[in-house]
This record gives sequence, structure tokens and C-alpha cells, in this order.
Amino acid sequence: MTDYVLNLENINKRFGGLSALSDINMSVEEGTTHAIIGPNGAGKSTLLNVCIGRLKPDTGSVTFAGETLTGRAPHEITQLGVARVFQTPEIFQEMTLLENVMIPALSYRDGSFRLNAGQKLANQHEIRDEAEHILEDVGLQDMMQTEAGSLSRGDKRRLELSMCLILRPRLLLLDEPTAGMARHDTNRTIDLLKKIKSRGMTKVIIEHDMHVVFSLADKVSVLSRGQIIADGDPQTVREDPKVKEAYLGGAQ
Ligand code: ADP
Ligand code: MG
Repeated sequence: MTDYVLNLENINKRFGGLSALSDINMSVEEGTTHAIIGPNGAGKSTLLNVCIGRLKPDTGSVTFAGETLTGRAPHEITQLGVARVFQTPEIFQEMTLLENVMIPALSYRDGSFRLNAGQKLANQHEIRDEAEHILEDVGLQDMMQTEAGSLSRGDKRRLELSMCLILRPRLLLLDEPTAGMARHDTNRTIDLLKKIKSRGMTKVIIEHDMHVVFSLADKVSVLSRGQIIADGDPQTVREDPKVKEAYLGGAQ
């Protein structure tokens, strides 16, 4: 039997007269990379925000590893093992890169919010070592003591990814991880995401540029005007006439 770690059932979300998500049903297999693609305005970010508790769906439910996520606060969802990278990076501008990566681990990981001050201090050395390793992995090792606010847009996104990786999430959600990046940075980020893939973490990648995800994804779901119009392996989806039409006729 296939082991689905994330299940979305009958999700509907309206913004006034606009149906942003209609009857979304989707399942993500444990350990795989699942891409959600679609033209701008298709509802991709809305879907991600529903998964992480930032938006409440009008109907339907999201379950993760047997736990219902719908109705839970975003920090509870993080503690269940779900991390996300937003379309606009959310980082601590005035802190160094190293501090930025350490903070999520000190706040959330392994129930660290319950530890006393002494235990936190002991943990800090270990977390610092790990943060340094992650920053090396993403190629930011030369800027560990730099203030995050001074980074380029591409580097900010890599920093935010590092802040997620230190949580060792079971599920990582990425909203357009290469948006606004130059070609060189895009390729570097794709290579990095491939490297993470080999570590067995489940990933949901949202992307409007379908070429970015085809080399990464095991499964692809295509959203257009709030509906899933196709899903399956990348090759099948790429050749689906409905997908071609959505992209050619869509609000690219
Ligand atoms: P995508 O991420 O695929 O580009 P979004 O999920 O951001 O699309 O948006 C889907 C649709 O919902 C768009 O038409 C957008 O304008 C609308 N929308 C998104 N968020 C809101 C909101 N908070 N209030 C009203 N409309 C919204
Ligand atoms: Mg979006």
C-alpha cells in the first residue's frame, strides 16, 4: 500500500467572488518530491498557505502523517515536522546568517521550547555546528557573520531554506524557490534541492516555471484557475494538451 504523508481532501477557498481553490484533492507520497505548477494567479500560494495553517479553507481538510492540520496554529504545524519557504523570504534582517539559522532550532526543534535555560545553552554549541554545516551546504559559508539584510535576493532565499533545514522537517514546502533568481543562482538552487532529495525528506515544490521542476519532481500536479487540471509523472503531465493550453492561454 502506498504511504501518503500529506493528504488534501475537498479543499475549497473563496476570496469574495473569486474561487481561488475548487475541490482540491491531492496526496503526497512519503520521501518523494511533489511539484505543484501553474500560471501566475492559479492558486498555488493559497494552497500552500492552507497547508501550513496561514489560511483556513472554507471546506475540506489537510492531514499530515495522520494528524489533521486544518484549524491548527502555524507554530503547532511546524512542531509536527512541517517547514516552509515562502515566496518572499522571512528572515531576521539585522541578525547574522549564523544567528538566523540557529534561531529556528533553538525555538522549535525537538521540543526545545520546553527546555530550561541550562539545557538550551548546552544545545547551543551543537546547533551552532549544525548551522555552520548547513550554511556550507547551501554555499553561504563565507558570509556566516554577515547581516542577513545585506544579502542578495537569491542568497536570502538560500538562507531561508537553511532555516528550514535545521528543523530537520519531515515535510518541506517551498513556494517558488528560484523566483527572482538569475539563471546561475537558479541552477545552483536546483542542484541543492536535488541534494536534499537524496536525504529522504518529503518535499512539495510550488513553481510557475515548469522547466525548473521537471528535473526534480517525482509527481506533478497542475493548477489552473484554482483547479487541478492534470497530475502524474512529469513526462505524462508535460505532454498533456490541457497543460499546454493552460500555459499558453494562461496569465503567464
Ligand atoms: P499563485 O501563487 O498561483 O500565483 P495565488 O494563490 O497567490 O496564486 O492567488 C490565487 C488567486 O487568489 C489570485 O487571483 C489572487 O489575486 C487571489 N488572492 C490571493 N490571496 C488573496 C487574498 N488574501 N485576498 C483576495 N484575493 C486573493
Ligand atoms: Mg504564488
